[in-house]
Amino acid sequence: MSRREELEANLASVRARIAAACAAAGRPADEVGLVVVTKYFPASDLRLLVDLGVTDVGENRHQEAEAKAAECADLDVRWHFIGALQSNKAAAVARYADVVESVDRSSLVDRLARGAGEGGRQVDVLLQVSLDPPGSEHRAGADPDQLAALAAALDLRPELELRGLMAVAPLGEDPAAAFARLSTIRAEFLADHPEATVLSAGMSGDLEAAIFAGATHVRVGTAVLGSRPGVQ
Ligand SMILES: *Cc1c(COP(=O)(O)O)cnc(C)c1O
Repeated sequence: MSRREELEANLASVRARIAAACAAAGRPADEVGLVVVTKYFPASDLRLLVDLGVTDVGENRHQEAEAKAAECADLDVRWHFIGALQSNKAAAVARYADVVESVDRSSLVDRLARGAGEGGRQVDVLLQVSLDPPGSEHRAGADPDQLAALAAALDLRPELELRGLMAVAPLGEDPAAAFARLSTIRAEFLADHPEATVLSAGMSGDLEAAIFAGATHVRVGTAVLGSRPGVQ
């Protein structure tokens, strides 16, 4: 099987999973988008994916993402930055990312806005919310009670557009329980920010639970591309 055939088959099965999860949740199938997470995989895979109809890709490391975005500048694809964002990299990320999904503290906002402004760009932003129980060592994301202040900081920056929320289910917990909390957090957030309708949740192992809880796009790596090189 060629790499193209492999990716095509994997994409078909992920799309079938999304469609089945939408049906089970009583949601229209076109309500849930797919961001293919291409981290650790070469630009050649990205080209095949775009040729196979993929419109959105996700990357989580700035240096790798920046290089790939430059290498694939001719492709019509939206770049989602989904990784932990270092403050000193934020301006650079805003020069190529179309969506920054991992904004979790207000110190990032000015830097992202500066990078977007310098590039003459508008960048969509998702606030990453932590689903870890209070008191646990947070993996990533803002506490739910910090979201209002973050949204207010974004409001002041015309270069950045608040589109919604992103979350990762904590390790070692039933994702359905974590995403149920996310659904509540999102409902409260939407009451104050009705335009922020995006919910980015769900990965290869838990996309069904995320779609059940209202995800509007899932971020899938392994199930499309296979195990990441150099990762167990
Ligand atoms: C790597 C990654 C994914 C994709 O994970 P898979 O299990 O490979 O589908 C999704 N979201 C984030 C934030 C990631 O870092």
